[in-house]
Amino acid sequence: MKRAAADVCGTPSGYKRGCRCTPCREAHAEHTAAQKRDRVIRAAADPSLVPHGTQSGYVNWSCRCTPCCEANRAARHSADRAVNGYRPWTDAERDIAMQDRPIREIAAELGRTYHAVLTMRYQQRQQQERQQLQNQQRIRSASGSVLTAHKEAS
Ligand SMILES: [Zn+2]
Ligand SMILES: [Zn+2]
Repeated sequence: MKRAAADVCGTPSGYKRGCRCTPCREAHAEHTAAQKRDRVIRAAADPSLVPHGTQSGYVNWSCRCTPCCEANRAARHSADRAVNGYRPWTDAERDIAMQDRPIREIAAELGRTYHAVLTMRYQQRQQQERQQLQNQQRIRSASGSVLTAHKEAS
């Protein structure tokens, strides 16, 4: 197992497998940069490829048209919200966010902002409370119908 992991280290697939060692990070960065170079060349040949009016157009395609610049500025402005909305939370991430650890530590681990983790914790707690309330109501109405059934029988 250890050998197999070492074999892909320093290649983009090492990073994709979740390895964050320096050679893997460098390989990933290089790969991303190469992809971007390729994208920018393709965009120069055919500007309609660029998703104009998005931060991706600005960042990934190096487009500097007005809609792309505006989208980038807006996204930067609400960085927290952008992080939140841009990448959906996975169930595993939600579990990690609810762990009893410093939020800063969790945020760093998930690559999300402090605020994003804080908001997720809040949302999860509210959801849990809602579910508990629903369960209680279900139990109450279930036992209520049992009681009336008893009364009717006697
Ligand atoms: Zn590695
Ligand atoms: Zn554009």
